[in-house]
This record gives sequence, C-alpha cells and structure tokens, in this order.
Amino acid sequence: MLASPMADKQGAGLVDTISREYRSEIMSRVGAKDTKPEMVVRRMLHAAGYRYRLHAKDLPGKPDLVFPARRKVVFINGCFWHRHRGCAHARLPKSRTEFWTEKLERNRERDERNVEALRELGWEVLTVWECEVRDPATLMPRVVAFLEQQPAPPH
Ligand SMILES: [Zn+2]
Repeated sequence: MLASPMADKQGAGLVDTISREYRSEIMSRVGAKDTKPEMVVRRMLHAAGYRYRLHAKDLPGKPDLVFPARRKVVFINGCFWHRHRGCAHARLPKSRTEFWTEKLERNRERDERNVEALRELGWEVLTVWECEVRDPATLMPRVVAFLEQQPAPPH
C-alpha cells in the first residue's frame, strides 16, 4: 500500500517546510488508493485472467491485492514511502533528513510487522516495488510465479 503523508496530522504541516521541487515530487507520489503502479499491476493480472480482492481491510496492512483461494497477497509499495532499500527513488530529502529517516523507517517497520502477521495467519506475501512496475516484462513472470507456486506440503 502507498501510505499518504496526510494520513497523520503531523505530516500535513511538514510537507510545507520542504522545497517546492521536492514537494512536487512527493505530491506526485501521494495518491488515493488507486495509484498508478497499482493500476498497472492490476491491469496486467486482470488481463492474464487473475481475479482478486482489493485492499482487504480485514487483513494486516490492508494488502493491495488479495487472492483468497490461493491464500496469497500482493503489496504494491511506493519506493519512497516504504523505504525501498538501495533504490534511487527512496532517496531522502536533503532537508530535515533526520525527520524523514525516522518517519519512513517507521513505515518500513510497520510493513515488516504486517508481513509477519500475515504469514502467521497463513498468507504468502509478495511485495512489488513501484520501480519494478516500470519493467513489466520482468515483473510479470515474477508475480505469476508467486501466484502459481504451490504451498510446500506439510511435514
Ligand atoms: Zn524502488
């Protein structure tokens, strides 16, 4: 899921304190639920015949795509807000770096807790990063492989 900085009150005022250039970059990343990378993945999977539930509110982290019969979920995460490790799109603003580090690390930790909680509930989890959506030819086989993989037999 793509978290919005407006989701908490603290975030709203802080957006004003960063440079206009960076602000427009951030604003382009802030969307409603149907942000672009997610739409791309949804369209790809739908075209391939997959059907899914969206933003399951009853599951930890409200996974973007839920495949109940396969017991699998997919998150489509924004590289900036979810701290994609080593990704150029996750680079921090030059001002208030400490603040952003803390805030975004909290997002990442929350993501990790949600993935753990989902696995404990018996769900398999795939995280797709925004930057990967730009290369559908590579991404698509990976997502399909995840969806088609059979669960390991019980010991
Ligand atoms: Zn990335």
